[in-house]
Parts: sequence; structure tokens; C-alpha cells
Amino acid sequence: VTARKLGLFALLLLLLGLAVAEARPGGGHSSSGGGRSSSSSRSSGGGGSFRGGGGSGGSLGGGGAVALIVIFVLIMIISAVVKQGQAQDNWSSGNIAYTPPPPKPVSLAPLIQRDPEFSRAVFEDFVYELYAAAQRSRDNPAKLGALSAYLDPGVIGMLAARGAAPSQIVIGSVKLANVATNVEGNLQHVDVRIEATVHTEPPRYVTELWSFVRELSAVSKPPTRNRTWGCPNCGAPWVANATRTCGHCNEPMGAGRFDWTVRWLQVESSKPVLASLRGTVEEYGNHLATVRAPDVDHAMASINVDDPAVSFDTIRMRTIMIYQRLNEAWNANDLKKVRGLVTTSLRGYLAYWLDEYKRQGLANRLDNARVETIHLSSVTRDKHYDAITLRVFAGGADYTLEGNRVVGGSKSTVRHYTEYWTLIRSSARRGAVVTEPKCANCGAPLEDTSDSGECSHCQANNELGSFDWVLSKIEQDDNYVG
Ligand SMILES: [Zn+2]
Ligand SMILES: [Zn+2]
Repeated sequence: VTARKLGLFALLLLLLGLAVAEARPGGGHSSSGGGRSSSSSRSSGGGGSFRGGGGSGGSLGGGGAVALIVIFVLIMIISAVVKQGQAQDNWSSGNIAYTPPPPKPVSLAPLIQRDPEFSRAVFEDFVYELYAAAQRSRDNPAKLGALSAYLDPGVIGMLAARGAAPSQIVIGSVKLANVATNVEGNLQHVDVRIEATVHTEPPRYVTELWSFVRELSAVSKPPTRNRTWGCPNCGAPWVANATRTCGHCNEPMGAGRFDWTVRWLQVESSKPVLASLRGTVEEYGNHLATVRAPDVDHAMASINVDDPAVSFDTIRMRTIMIYQRLNEAWNANDLKKVRGLVTTSLRGYLAYWLDEYKRQGLANRLDNARVETIHLSSVTRDKHYDAITLRVFAGGADYTLEGNRVVGGSKSTVRHYTEYWTLIRSSARRGAVVTEPKCANCGAPLEDTSDSGECSHCQANNELGSFDWVLSKIEQDDNYVG
């Protein structure tokens, strides 16, 4: 054993030690997934467990950024040592755990240039639903076959090998990790990192990288509310077959000829979810500089030109109203007050965490919560949605009760925190940014919004952002990359 190998092992142990320390799911709070760092997304919906998760967690817990940098540096050193080792004595690196590089903002501009129908929110929704459907079907060949127009045979094999299907899937976030165009191969690649809590026995918190491909000439489908996973070319019901050819239009699906196909996937991490939501986790990331897209001011100005009702000021007022309603709803353990103000999927995610507190005999509260400052972070516009991301600085007394006993946080100290909130609205919509909890279409109270997000009075789907800005993502400052 050479000194170099010993050095390598020492570094590896250090790296693993750090990784384990970081794995402290939620640091006293449960499910890494639900933890505050796990942040959000899905149709952008899903959301960090709001204030609820309390803890950090996610693949990178509180302090994640610093640890991430440390881990990243270690990986650089280790891979250098490994390469050297391989070159000199064929030392195998097979046992070294792969840790993905830190996330970077991705540019969708080349993709949208080829396919102006592409919408990030719509794509993320597709990923969210395909992931959930595939997980639910993974132990049933017939159900997996029904998705096979969208899953490569190799991917179906990988899913089938993962054992019993989870009874419930709670997606914490769907993040675009890499976007690349392969002109020679005629393929558009989009890699997506998914963080989820999958309720197997016992429940696990997983991070997976799913790699999607589509032919360059394919055009994105419009948003859909009732996905059936039919033929992506003609829409006919899909019947699984060995050549992945549609029985109706006779077209073979190939590798993403008509729509996105999962070509490959990797489970990056999988660990048991810790049970308890008790405890306190340090806030991390407040001091980080606000991530600002380079074109943010220009993009905000362009929305304002198209619709003078939309400005940083009006958006800020609506965000403060949503923030207050969200806290009232959270503290009351009843999400009625945010109906029509958040996406249906984000509401579902919040409901999961409220239920989880309840199931454990706990209640999380944020008293005297208020927004302190709001910064503009990014503005994106595509065919279907305009999206505005703000960094919200806020504070309140954050604590968890078991009966009358405080078992986490503090009733008497204000906990300051910052989060990135993304609001979306249909890009076709023009009109006032309403700062009261009323339907932007008819003025009826939003509390009467249906479970599927429609105004009970005029049927406008407010939770899709068809009429006014709705909160679709809550992301934590320590893992937000823009
Ligand atoms: Zn067809
Ligand atoms: Zn209405």
C-alpha cells in the first residue's frame, strides 16, 4: 500500500464523514426531503415543506453550500489522486462513490429557439407526473408497459429492478440539471434532478437524475390537465409492444421522435427518512447574496410594457398578501386560505406536511410572521407562462408543539430566513395584479376554490395561473441557483 493510496483512503473517509453529517436528515427534522432545503417545485409546484419542515435537509442540509464546496474540493483532490493512481498502478476507482457536481443555472435559450412551444413550467409538470407514474408502476410490468412510449426499455428494466412500488410519492423538487443539444445525433438532452420521499417500507428520501431526450424537430405539447400517456404522435391509447410502435398511426417511437423520452436514470442517493419532526435546525443562507439573473431588469421591463398592471411593486404587494395567507393557513392547519393563490400541486405538497405533523401529534407554528424585504431575482417568459422569482426576506417565531409543549424552535425569538418564491401567470393573460384573496376573473372569495383549483363561482382555474399570479415554487436560499 503506497502512501498515495493511504492519502486517498483518508480523504475518502473524510468525505464520507462529511456526507453522513450532512445526511442528518433535517437535523432533527424528518425526511430530508421535506426539510426546508429540499425546496420546491412542480409545475412548478411542490414546495419546500414551507416553514413546516423546519429543518434543513434535502441532499444538502443547512450549511449545505459550505459543505458542498468542501466536498467538491475533496472530490477534485480525490479524482486527481485516483487518476494518478490509475495511470501509475492501475488502482481501481470502482469503490469511490460518485457525487454529482453542484447544480448550475441552465440556459433554455437554444432549446426555445428551436421549439418556441417549449415551456419550462409545462415540461417540469410532465417530468413530475411521469416520475410519479413510473414509480407507482415499477413493480407491475403491464403498468410500466402503458408508459413505454415515454420510457426507454432500459429504463423500464431499471425501474422494474427497484422492487415494490411506493404507496405514496412526495416530490420535493424537480430541477433542470443540464440542457444540451447534440446536432449530429439529432437529439435534445435535458437532465433533471428529482428529490422525493418515496413511501416504501421504510420510507426513503431519494435524489435521482433522469435523462430525457427528444429529436430536434419535435415540438412541445401544450399544457394538459388529464394526462393519459397515449401515443405522443397521434394521441391514441398506447398498447405496449416490443418495437414501441403505435398500433394506431404505426409510427415507431424511437428515442424521443415525438416527445420527451427517459433514456437513462440514476439514483444518486437513497436514505431512510428519519421519523421525527421535532427539534431545531440552524438557519443557513440568509447572508448569501441574492441570485439575480443578468437580464432580470430588462425582462421585468418587458412584462411591464406588455401589461402595465404588472410591476415589481404590484407583484410585491400580491406576494406579501400570499405570504400572510399562507402563514395563517399553516398556523390554522387548514389550507383553505391559500386556495386560488398557490398551484394545486404546491397546495398538495403543503397538505402532505401538515398531515405529517398531525400524524406525529405535532403542530408547527410561525407566529408574528412578516415579510421584511423582497428582492427581484429572475423573470422568464415563454409560450405558456410568465414566471417571476423573488427572494423573500421574512421572520417570525418558528416553533413546534406537542400538545402545549414546545419540542422544536422557539416561541420567543424571531427566526429570520430567506426563500426564493416563484410566481407564475399564463403568458396570454393581461390585467390587474389583485392584492386581495379574490378571484381575478369574477371577484368571488378564493376560499371557495375547488379541490382542482377552480373558482366555485366562475370556474376560472386560478391555481393554474390562468388569471392572476400564483405561487408555484418555494426554494431555499442555500440551494437556489436560478
Ligand atoms: Zn400513434
Ligand atoms: Zn371567479
